[in-house]
Amino acid sequence: MNLLEYVAKEILAREGVPVPQFGVASSPDEAFDVAVKLNKTPLVVKAQIAAGGRGKGRFADGYEGGVKICKTTEEVREVAAKMLGGILVTAQTGPVGQPVRKVIVTESVNIVEEIYLSLTYSYSEAAIWVMGSRLGGVEIERIALENPQAFVKKTFLLDQPLWDFQLREFGAQLGFKSKSLVDFSKILKSLLQAFIKHDATLCEINPLAIDRENRFWALDAKISIDDNSLFRHDGLSTYRFETVYDSQELEALSHGVNYVGLDGQIGCLVNGAGLAMATMDILDRFGGRPANFLDVGGGADQNQVEKAFRVLLSHPNLKVILINIFGGIMRCDLIAEAIVEATKKQPLHVPLVIRLEGTRVKEGKEILEKSSLQYVFAEDLEEAAKKAVNLVEK
Ligand code: GDP
Ligand code: MN
Repeated sequence: MNLLEYVAKEILAREGVPVPQFGVASSPDEAFDVAVKLNKTPLVVKAQIAAGGRGKGRFADGYEGGVKICKTTEEVREVAAKMLGGILVTAQTGPVGQPVRKVIVTESVNIVEEIYLSLTYSYSEAAIWVMGSRLGGVEIERIALENPQAFVKKTFLLDQPLWDFQLREFGAQLGFKSKSLVDFSKILKSLLQAFIKHDATLCEINPLAIDRENRFWALDAKISIDDNSLFRHDGLSTYRFETVYDSQELEALSHGVNYVGLDGQIGCLVNGAGLAMATMDILDRFGGRPANFLDVGGGADQNQVEKAFRVLLSHPNLKVILINIFGGIMRCDLIAEAIVEATKKQPLHVPLVIRLEGTRVKEGKEILEKSSLQYVFAEDLEEAAKKAVNLVEK
């Protein structure tokens, strides 16, 4: 899960990283109020989306830039009005872009230099992989390609203490001296602590700016949290919905269904992630396009199947639903009952193809046959895929 910049900045500020003062706004008036409260100009207005490249991004309506410096509080209101409700497209969002629901209004820093600093998790080494460069800023991707020597790298083992000399060694390799070296080492230590404390998989500051007084400021912040750790980060779970933009994915997330939206026409309801992927592959082989990835899990009950149907049926391109169940731990008779009951509550407006196999399949088939459910049965996955593709074409 990716945190928006304003949440990442709150975390970093709490950990002792210097962050310019800022406030969050969901409307132009709120942005104006934040600007008045900060009582300082110029100010920077920044679109909050879960992707970088905003500085060089462009809104769907043609408005340029998701990061804007404003000279007056009135200008802050105008810029916020342009950004909020807009769709921002950047090199990282893909062509569809992401909607802007919040902006931050922040003090502007007089930048003398921009540093790049990032922490990622190295699974193979059980370590935090730190990278830094004096050539930070919006051109960092190009610099990484053209000038990889401009990066300093070091791993910090998780089962070792964070020795100050290691932090200073890293800062010195970046060329920092005296007070700057001490300040930089402190920031790196805070970042490492924030990374560990929040079970992050990524923590990036780009740029970490240096101002005219030689002070460091985190002007941007990006933190990704390991989803598997969310059970122990109550405070962060609430932000999960903020960075999911697909309406079916939002619905699935709120019901605890494993769902990824795609742009095809065949809605897939499958038990097990591996089988779900195989189902998508075989559809593709017969010229069909899955509308989604959906894994109802090994213990799917009627409630879960009902929720899954609700998500599937709201997909705008849906033409056919394909249910592919392999009953291992899951019993085919239970899932058949769940399908019958769920479709009583959620009437289907598209044809349904069912393939059932495995434990108690005979009983499962009987339940389906006896019900009033309209469906096409398939004996195996290949037949199911062909039938689903045919139904789309019809
Ligand atoms: P990103 O493009 O999504 O990575 O957004 P950033 O927050 O990194 O902003 C992009 C660029 O805007 C930065 O690299 C800076 O050059 C510039 N910028 C951001 N904040 C400030 C600021 O407070 N003052 C000035 N002068 N420039 C800023
Ligand atoms: Mn940035």
